[in-house]
Amino acid sequence: STQVQLVRRPRGWPTEEDFRTVSVELGDLAPGQVRVRNEFLSVDPYMRGRMNDGPSYAPPYALGETMTGAAVGRVEESTSDELPVGALVLHGLGWRDVTQADASAFRRVEEIPGGPSSLHLGLFGMPGLTAYAGLTAVAGLREGERVFVSGAAGAVGTAAGQIARLLGARTVIGSAGSAEKVALLTSRYGYDVALNYKEAPIREQLRAAAPEGIDVFFDNVGGDHLEAALDVLNPNGRAAVCGSISAYNDSAPKPGPDNLSRIVTRTLTLRGFLVGQHPDLADEYREAVTRWFAAGELAYDETVVDGVENAVTAFLSMLRGGNTGKMVVRV
Ligand code: NDP
Repeated sequence: STQVQLVRRPRGWPTEEDFRTVSVELGDLAPGQVRVRNEFLSVDPYMRGRMNDGPSYAPPYALGETMTGAAVGRVEESTSDELPVGALVLHGLGWRDVTQADASAFRRVEEIPGGPSSLHLGLFGMPGLTAYAGLTAVAGLREGERVFVSGAAGAVGTAAGQIARLLGARTVIGSAGSAEKVALLTSRYGYDVALNYKEAPIREQLRAAAPEGIDVFFDNVGGDHLEAALDVLNPNGRAAVCGSISAYNDSAPKPGPDNLSRIVTRTLTLRGFLVGQHPDLADEYREAVTRWFAAGELAYDETVVDGVENAVTAFLSMLRGGNTGKMVVRV
């Protein structure tokens, strides 16, 4: 099996040299085990945090161990009664082409009519549920409200804008880092207004784009985007604080927003959340996304990089904005 391992903890931006690709011999299957050939591997922003040695919500990766993370594959050999050959499975064993383990390490998932299995890593998977949980349980989005989504052209962001619209938002504003991405946000993802934060300060652009303010902020970016949103959040506005990717590769802390006092004067709620705290919403989301997708109400994009040995390249490209929609590695 070809596998990718972390061998050095990055300081600031990670590099290819922080990883190595190894070939691992897999033994015969023990009773109750399955061998899975992966179809797609996920590269996700949270993995950057796990490369550090500090405490976070997920434990740090061990040096010299294969990178774990979400992957979807098919059972090609089985000694388990639960998972027959051919079953499509989702698991957390990460950056390898073939993997084998006890059947309990894998969760059988359904084929998605009209979509690739990689959707289990994106729209139908963790990023989609993140968007849904953030808008519903965390921000309490109500019909007729105005919404701003930062990082709108990524995996979570493309889902969040569309779901906000489907849940009855009146206006949906998004931000992203290129002209192509902002064009897609309005043409394909149902955003009313899309802002390219690389073109002019997001703070000025958002102020101009939201003359009536916003009620809900779904934040994937942090930093200048959080500051911009605080400026325009209406009284009793809510922010679902999902991530702060603008800071993940900082080697020193940055000063915070200069307008935090608006939390008081506008009686705002800023609420951080982790998708893992919302397993209760998984069934409800699966039902909703299946229905919306079948009805043609949800679009998706994926940026696909081929080869497990290119997982690091894909991960680094995602951190720099090389993806539109979900970044996945095709094995
Ligand atoms: P994306 O698919 O959105 O990929 C990351 C994107 O971040 C890039 O494409 C890039 O797009 C953007 N980006 C990178 N640097 C900056 C910057 N300095 N300023 C603004 N944008 C930047 O990733 P995901 O959808 O998987 O994740 C999005 C966010 O959600 C992350 O913050 C992640 O940590 C968080 N998350 C949180 C979860 C939770 O449970 N709380 C669960 C899943 C994700 P661009 O070209 O627009 O710059």
